[in-house]
Amino acid sequence: MNTITRNLPEARFPGQLVDRFQRRVDYLRLSVTDRCDFRCVYCMAEDMTFLPRREVLSLEELFEVARVFTELGVGKIRLTGGEPLVRRGIVDLVQRLGQLSGLRELALTTNGSQLAKLAPALREAGVTSVNISLDTLNPTRFRELTRTGDLDTVQRGIEAAVAAGFRRIKLNAVILRGRNDDEVLTLVRYARGLGIDIAFIEEMPLGQIIEHDRSLSLADSDSLRRQIDAVFPLSSEGDPRGSAGPARYFRMHDSPSRVGFISPHSNNFCHLCNRVRLTVSGRLLLCLGNEHSVDLRAVLRQQGYRSEHLAAAIIAAMDIKPERHHFGEDGATEIVRFMNMTGG
Ligand code: SAM
Ligand code: SF4
Repeated sequence: MNTITRNLPEARFPGQLVDRFQRRVDYLRLSVTDRCDFRCVYCMAEDMTFLPRREVLSLEELFEVARVFTELGVGKIRLTGGEPLVRRGIVDLVQRLGQLSGLRELALTTNGSQLAKLAPALREAGVTSVNISLDTLNPTRFRELTRTGDLDTVQRGIEAAVAAGFRRIKLNAVILRGRNDDEVLTLVRYARGLGIDIAFIEEMPLGQIIEHDRSLSLADSDSLRRQIDAVFPLSSEGDPRGSAGPARYFRMHDSPSRVGFISPHSNNFCHLCNRVRLTVSGRLLLCLGNEHSVDLRAVLRQQGYRSEHLAAAIIAAMDIKPERHHFGEDGATEIVRFMNMTGG
């Protein structure tokens, strides 16, 4: 038993985080910034206000949270944001996280804009897998969807990531009907050409956006799957429990690349949920689609802080993890936080 849980009478399952529905939480998504160099239309408003510095966890505080989570049995951490690679000092943080015993997977979700420069250093520092967002291979559309991004820079970043030799690289594409749903096969071919995975994500109702009507833009996973299957027959990998998360993955017989679908609308995966999220302001979110949360920044900044305080707050938080989200249901409230605040 480690030093933290030994001192905690509250720990019902020493060394493990288990919620009221007997789900074991062993995965933390850690947002390291709310800022970003892009303004993707489904994620942010064009004119965003970001958090003042005093409200943002320092690199030291982020490391402390990560360390305590690993002592409580969390074996996978994903760094996200905002754009994690625009946070100053990110490579140093990764280096420290990479040395945490107990961490078997250190993953990163990025828009790829800084990867051409940083991929080798991140690999060296201990990042094992990288998700790179890519919704289109058309430069004009790329600029429209990201508002500020440059496709060529991101493609060079993707190539640098492939060359750096991460254990796993996956492209993430949010597909919007009438915007980029005609590129599904082009994106699959691109992933196949690089020998990497690709997942298609249904847009989630996070944050109020005015750029498009979400109910009109939803491209559901089943129709995308049928479209791909007609050209590249797909065979299911089965239960998502064995894969990296809520995505359902499929194999193609003539390629190492896998195709995944992340479908909060058409496929409820809450019963398999093994994750929690920490916003960069230190709010521990127990569910992507609910507001249940605990303020860990207040714990970290209290007088006389000790790691045991944080561990106790995290263990207690398991009791308020909701059973499920209600995306897409009539009368369901929209979550008002933006994805960049949530830690996507
Ligand atoms: N900036 C990084 C990136 O874009 O990969 C990491 C953070 S971003 C919030 C994480 C992922 O969330 C991206 O793949 C993005 O496409 C996705 N995302 C953002 N807003 C979304 C929404 N409303 N619905 C579904 N996915 C969304
Ligand atoms: Fe930035 Fe990622 Fe949100 Fe796009 S999806 S605006 S890259 S945080």
